[in-house]
Amino acid sequence: MADSGQHLLPPLLDVDDPAVFTVHNPHGASPFLLLADHAGQRVPAALDALGLPQHELDRHIGWDIGIAGTTRELARRLDAWAIEQTYSRLLIDCNRPLASPTLIPETSDGTLVPGNAGLTEAQRQQRIDVIHTPYHARINAELDRRRDQGIPTLLVMMHSFTPAMNGSQRPWQAGVLYHQDTRFAHALLRTLREEGDLVVGDNQPYSVSSTSDYAVPMHGEARGLVHVELEIRQDLIADTAGQQAWAARLERIFRAMQSELLQLQLQ
Ligand SMILES: [Zn+2]
Repeated sequence: MADSGQHLLPPLLDVDDPAVFTVHNPHGASPFLLLADHAGQRVPAALDALGLPQHELDRHIGWDIGIAGTTRELARRLDAWAIEQTYSRLLIDCNRPLASPTLIPETSDGTLVPGNAGLTEAQRQQRIDVIHTPYHARINAELDRRRDQGIPTLLVMMHSFTPAMNGSQRPWQAGVLYHQDTRFAHALLRTLREEGDLVVGDNQPYSVSSTSDYAVPMHGEARGLVHVELEIRQDLIADTAGQQAWAARLERIFRAMQSELLQLQLQ
């Protein structure tokens, strides 16, 4: 096996850098389980903000604006196990397969990321080993535990999207994303549309694939779990009031759907 050279690198995380992920409600009783891959915007101190000004890390390229607060509040309301990833998607995108060209992007939405230019294989592997791998290992450990103990899981990947991209406004307040398993997604799409006050994207603003996405194919489809990826428009959850409102709405919707979804899981 080739020497990765990684032992020659300084550690990615210092003692003062925060933990890679936070688990909320580790003993939550709800079948719903929430993942927030893009919750955080931190960059390890050693990488000096990847050479970016804070306002670049603050915009949607740095993280999913508003999703940490929304996920925490929804988890609290549902008493659901939830995990939020701490570091910026620009450091490494935890919802990308390792072979994705945008796993560690050199540019994002027109912004050059100096700290990602010309990385060595060892530097790339270090980010995988320190961030991506332990984050998904923690999710796998919880999903394994629930499977082994016969605890049902309804998996929700929580994301947010920017209202405008490439100069055009997006019409949706929320988007329901799925790949081949449509069980949860089609039920949620119908329910959200029945709310009456929402324009809901059907695999919009993105579609999911096994080459561009990690959580849906690996944690949802590979395990056969009933799952959905939910996208909420960022301006709706930018402040605490919006996060609370969306968490309340989703709590009501998920509680109403729960028994139907658990039946789907048994089929
Ligand atoms: Zn996201």
